[in-house]
Amino acid sequence: MSATDCLFCKIAGGEIPATIVKRDGRLLAFRDINPQAPTHVLIIPTQHVSSLNDARDAGLLGEMLVFAGNLAREAGIAERGYRVVVNTNPDGGQTVFHLHAHLLGGRRMTWPPG
Ligand code: 5GP
Ligand code: ZN
Repeated sequence: MSATDCLFCKIAGGEIPATIVKRDGRLLAFRDINPQAPTHVLIIPTQHVSSLNDARDAGLLGEMLVFAGNLAREAGIAERGYRVVVNTNPDGGQTVFHLHAHLLGGRRMTWPPG
């Protein structure tokens, strides 16, 4: 399934350019256009899922986390540490309604988040 007006579906389909970091199976990773850390990569399923509220495929969600860990290792930030974030709906800060995980690293993160 693909949502016609979905920005990340268009990136996954190559209709809108993005800096692709890695493509593997059902997942795609590309650089965030407005990076909040030296490493800021978005991980998406290539098939449209609107948010974590609509995610029913535990295997897919697990793959996203394993993929994030592999990307962190490849970016050289795994040992120092990093953060994986899934913003969900307005209170969670979600602005693009295609499920994505942010991989953030390369600087010390603060807690609690804003
Ligand atoms: P959210 O706020 O939904 O968790 O995250 C959406 C992210 O998508 C934001 O960090 C934003 O910078 C990023 N973003 C929005 N539009 C584009 C785009 O056209 N290309 C890329 N690469 N990232 C985008
Ligand atoms: Zn989509």
